[in-house]
Parts: sequence; structure tokens; C-alpha cells
Amino acid sequence: MATVEYKHIGKAFGAFTIMRDISFLIEDHEFVVLLGPSGCGKTTLLRMTAGLESVTAGDLMISGRRVNDVHPRDRDIAMVFQNYALYPTMKVYENIAFSLEVAKLPPAEIKRRVEHAAEILNLTPYLQRYPKELSGGQRQRVAMGRAMVREAAVFLFDEPLSNLDAKLRAHMRTEIRQLHNRLKTTTIYVTHDQIEAMTMADKIVVMRAGKIEQIGTPDDVYDRPASKYVADFIGSSAINFLGGVVVADQGVPAAQTSAGLIRLDPALKVSVGQKVICGIRPTDVLVDPNGSVAARSLLIERMGHEAQLCCQGPEGQFLAIVDKSARFDEGAEVRFSVASEKVHVFDAATEDRI
Ligand code: ATP
Repeated sequence: MATVEYKHIGKAFGAFTIMRDISFLIEDHEFVVLLGPSGCGKTTLLRMTAGLESVTAGDLMISGRRVNDVHPRDRDIAMVFQNYALYPTMKVYENIAFSLEVAKLPPAEIKRRVEHAAEILNLTPYLQRYPKELSGGQRQRVAMGRAMVREAAVFLFDEPLSNLDAKLRAHMRTEIRQLHNRLKTTTIYVTHDQIEAMTMADKIVVMRAGKIEQIGTPDDVYDRPASKYVADFIGSSAINFLGGVVVADQGVPAAQTSAGLIRLDPALKVSVGQKVICGIRPTDVLVDPNGSVAARSLLIERMGHEAQLCCQGPEGQFLAIVDKSARFDEGAEVRFSVASEKVHVFDAATEDRI
């Protein structure tokens, strides 16, 4: 059993508080991604979990034990760093074995664990090579092997894929997730890449300026973003935002925006006159000559299986995923319709989901 619980965690560097009142629970076997832009505090939270940074408020619990003052070595965690931190003068075998040798495990046990990890990670043919003789993906696997052999209760990953090219990143994402499916070690993974978060996480913790903005499954944060910030951060194509005022359209709530009338879900708790922001994903916009939303076509980006139509809306860029064979004249007005249940509605003042 390995759980990690943050209870009202805060962090100050000197007089400067960068994190306040972080509370959530990571369950046994869970793969949790801490997601947010640069500077939101995700790395600091991970380093506090590892014991590489002090906790200045609250209680940090690993498997029910308060570890605020426990040495990193005694926390039963293993961390994989962004730069892998491999020893260049040691062969792969020695790199993977190093922490076990420091811990003075019996040689036979060290051999067993290294060979087992190498087998799982497809590193057996490379055990006698030096890190410089490996590809980026292989080095990444060695770094994971070093964490694995420690048989720690919790794995911590700090942006482990950011040094790899796009194709290898996609491949390693799958490998790390498959490894997790096999080992089921409780994992905390830091990234600013929403695709990594969406594809790997059981649960995503979206952070903003030292606070938690939303915690949920990838589907939760995509389908029901708790705020405009989360809606903006999650999704491969940028979500469209249109500001408006709530009106009653034949007894049904709608938002009057500068691009047109957008019908809202009748179950929403909005009142006439209320200022809102409608968030509409490009995948939820339908080209429809009778649609109530209008924008001007700028250009179409073809992406093989589909195409993205970039328009000039009254509030800036407006994107729609369209059929790849569709043709639009530059500057022509295009009309769109949006199903009311696909509109994410945020309060204009708080930017929280309504
Ligand atoms: P990145 O993806 O760029 O690493 P992050 O979300 O991981 O960003 P942190 O590195 O955790 O963010 O930093 C959070 C905040 O804490 C930032 O404002 C940063 O400037 C500040 N910070 C981090 N380390 C220190 C330090 N040692 N002293 C003072 N401030 C720090």
C-alpha cells in the first residue's frame, strides 16, 4: 500500500510564499499528473514530496506516515529527473545498480534486480554500454531502471520526456504508462504538456500560481473544466471563448455574444443579464449555413485526417475542425452552430464554471 496525502501544504522561500493550502490524496496504484504552466509550483511540490525541498506548512503523508522531516532516503520514493542524472563514467549496469550498492545489498540480490529491470525495460543488450552510447529513449529507460530497482513505494517523475523529440516522446509516454500498468507503483508525474497528462494520467491535478485549479480524470477536466483557465489549458486545439450576456430565447437561456446567439443548456443556473464567457472547443463547432454564430474565414490548415479552419471572430481567432475536403474562400463569412450541451459556460467575473 502506498498513498501520498497533502494536507494543507504550503511553501515559502524566505518571505515569499509560492504555495498555499494544497490538499489532496493520491491513492495506492494511482498515476497522478501535476499539470500547469511554468512557475505554477508543480516541480516544487514534487521536490517537497521527495524531500529535496522543505515543507513550510501542513503535513505531508506517505502511506499514512508524516514525512515532513524524514530524510529523502527514508521516504520509500524513487525519482526520475528531467536530465536523467546518469553517471557518464559508469556503464548502464552500474548506473542501475548504484543505489543498491550504496545501500549495501547482497551482490546476488543486486544482480537479480538489475537484470529483472533491464528485461522489463528492454535494456538487456545495453547493460555494458556507457550512457553516451545510448539513444535518448534508452537513457530515459536507464533512468527508470534506476528508480525501479529500488522497489520504492512511490515513483516521482519530473518532466522526464522534455529532452526527447516529438516522436520519441509519444513512444515513451506509452512505455511509461505500460510500465505502470505492469508494476502499478503509485506515481506522481510532473509536466506542462497537456497531451502527456491526458494520455497517461488516472487523475490530473491542474495547478495555477501555487494553488489547485481542478482535480479530476482526463475526461473530467476535458468535459467539465472547472474554470476558463482549465478549459484553456486542456485540449489539443485552442478552445474558442466568446463573451456574452444571458438572454431568454423563447424561454430558453442563451448568450448574446458579438459573434451571435448561443443557446445554453436549460439546466444551467444562469439569470437574464448575467455576463458570461462561452467556451466552445473547435471540435464542437459545426459549419451550418443556418447557424447563429458567424466569423470570417482566414485560412484552412490541413492535418491529413481532418482540417482546422481558422477564422477571424469579433473577439479574435475562432477555430473549427472541419471536413478535410471542405473549401472556404478567404474573407468569406462562415456560419456555425453549436449544440447547447457542448458550450462550457463561465461566469465573466470569476471565470469559474457555471
Ligand atoms: P517549471 O515547469 O518552469 O519548472 P514549475 O511549475 O515546476 O515550473 P516551480 O519550479 O515549482 O514551478 O516554481 C514555482 C515558483 O517558485 C516560481 O515562481 C519560482 O520562481 C519559485 N521558486 C522555485 N524555486 C525557488 C527558490 N529556490 N527560491 C525562490 N523561489 C523559488
